Amino acid sequence: MHPAHAPEAEEFRGRVRAFLAANLPPGWSGIGSITDRHEADEFVSAWRTVLFEHGLLAVAWPKKYGGAGLSKLEQVVLVEELAKAGVPAMGYNDTFGIKMLGNTLLRWGTEAQRQWFLPRILSGDDLWCQGYSEPGAGSDLAALRTSATLDGDRWVIDGQKLWTSRAREANWIFLLARTDPHAPLHRGISFLLVPLDQPGVEVRPIRALSGESEFNEVFFTGATTAAGNIVGDVNQGWTVAMTLLGHERGEEAATNPILFRAEFDRLLVMSRCAGARTDPVVRDRLADAYIRMETMRYLGMRILTGVLHGDGHLGPEASISKLYWSEYHQRLTDLALDVLGADALVTDGRLPLRAFRTDDPGAPNTSGSWLGAWYNATAGTIYAGSSEVQRNILGETVLGLPKEPSSTS
Ligand SMILES: Cc1cc2nc3c(=O)[nH]c(=O)nc-3n(C[C@H](O)[C@H](O)[C@H](O)COP(=O)(O)OP(=O)(O)OC[C@H]3O[C@@H](n4cnc5c(N)ncnc54)[C@H](O)[C@@H]3O)c2cc1C
Repeated sequence: MHPAHAPEAEEFRGRVRAFLAANLPPGWSGIGSITDRHEADEFVSAWRTVLFEHGLLAVAWPKKYGGAGLSKLEQVVLVEELAKAGVPAMGYNDTFGIKMLGNTLLRWGTEAQRQWFLPRILSGDDLWCQGYSEPGAGSDLAALRTSATLDGDRWVIDGQKLWTSRAREANWIFLLARTDPHAPLHRGISFLLVPLDQPGVEVRPIRALSGESEFNEVFFTGATTAAGNIVGDVNQGWTVAMTLLGHERGEEAATNPILFRAEFDRLLVMSRCAGARTDPVVRDRLADAYIRMETMRYLGMRILTGVLHGDGHLGPEASISKLYWSEYHQRLTDLALDVLGADALVTDGRLPLRAFRTDDPGAPNTSGSWLGAWYNATAGTIYAGSSEVQRNILGETVLGLPKEPSSTS
């Protein structure tokens, strides 16, 4: 089933296709076909500028903040077409700036915050990262200990964040800080916007198993931010934080499956070339992956329909989507490494550009691309809340099971 959307959205699809035909290099076959890492990074950056100049970043944001004032459905159509063409829908730090913070400011930010920060996110003047996790506060996020104290017209921040992706490229961080040490844990937290380029902030890279250093530790020692850089009320940051997590987990539910399909098709080709498609066990695992991928596609459509016909916000379905694709991806990439066999022991070719989701569309069937996708898949059931945490959320909020005992509420 390949459903068409409403006529206005399909008309918009035609415009996006015309834009792609006019702006992609001749013979373009996907970002994965650029085999040199440096060149690929440069393409992403230049492509982001093209999207920005054509008003195609954050198209569902209101025009007054730099968006295009289009519907969520048109936004999905745009991302669908970009995914099919194998080009990114945004730059690397935009996951934090546009998808997470920008969408959250639209709901909880003051008018002044929206007018100042949203256009700067789109122009690329501000690059954001996410300061949630800490040593001792990951799944149990409400246990966080980084503190913020109001001193006249500024907040003073002390503490440490951990696993902060792309903090070295960012110049701002949104973070959760404890602003009332005496309140119950969830009720003493505030959501702050903090500039990184200041003496009280130190960013240290962490080297991952893949050899890359996508994430970092960030230390705050008397760092400051203006008193007005708080989103939501003082000590009410938990609600803001949960809205943001909904965007982090579920925003791409409808468009993710396009990229997963491209990756699956590539595995089929590799299995055929390796002669593995005649192996009954491989055939069985491929069929299983195909069924799961198709289920993910229908799940995505269902979630999109719910968002379009509901209040426009994601609830527990964000957890369903996140749980589903991340566990699917581990199965699929395990299978890819089994098909590669001993070749998987040597990294040949570049790793995927993003540390999240699938490999780059159009990538050649190299061990580097599959190993990188496998590393990403391993992390996929941890970041944005582990699978166990998603199951707890679904158990409690959807199935109505008793809450698990906790010392934090
Ligand atoms: C690639 C990557 C990028 C990341 N980027 C960022 C970022 O930019 N910003 C940021 O703030 N954080 C980031 N994180 C951190 C991420 O959010 C945390 O790793 C995650 O929330 C899990 O926390 P933890 O690592 O402390 O593990 P823990 O919370 O210590 O969990 C350890 C294990 O115990 C299980 N567990 C914990 N509690 C329960 C429970 N109640 N019931 C059942 N099982 C439980 C977990 O599922 C897990 O298997 C990133 C992580 C990764 C892997």
